[in-house]
Amino acid sequence: MPITYKNIEFEAVLGDITNQPDVEAVVNAANAELAIGGGVAGAIHRAAGPELYEECKPLAPINPGEAVITKAYNLPNKYVIHCLGPVYGSDKPEDELLANCYKNALRLAEENKISSIAFPSISTGAFRYPFQKATDVSFNTILGELERFKHLQKIRFVLFSEQDLRFYEEKLGKLE
Ligand code: ADP
Repeated sequence: MPITYKNIEFEAVLGDITNQPDVEAVVNAANAELAIGGGVAGAIHRAAGPELYEECKPLAPINPGEAVITKAYNLPNKYVIHCLGPVYGSDKPEDELLANCYKNALRLAEENKISSIAFPSISTGAFRYPFQKATDVSFNTILGELERFKHLQKIRFVLFSEQDLRFYEEKLGKLE
């Protein structure tokens, strides 16, 4: 169930980041080379098709915390915003670098007048960031940026397990 907080609609859903046709931008949990890879990046590149990597190549490599924006090709969205999360235990300070991902993704969304965006849980797969800690960073960062929004109206979190979804739903429930 979506909730509205400070005029922004938030929701958490169980699903696949490549199947969110009603949002303008999806966020990729990218690797430094902006290449295909596993997890979210693999799914996004497979669904978008090879042109996505062609656009990504000259933009790579990116550093932890950075984000870049591309078109979405065969995905049902207008844009992909690629964020490189920190590898937990090696890219430090992890919380600051993860927060930078969310800030930079939101900044690019605003610069491109994007009204709706879907985030996966960046860094919590191959990069091993503890899920609950990562969720705290994601919430605190996004809530800290709300005042800056001029275009964004809707933020969706796309989770890959029931357990992850429940955790996000609990956090969203506390906002109301
Ligand atoms: P990272 O390398 O940043 O850790 P991963 O893609 O390995 O990124 O995983 C990030 C999170 O996304 C994990 O919680 C994982 O379970 C989840 N995930 C993996 N594939 C998908 C997908 N297709 N859609 C949404 N979430 C996904």
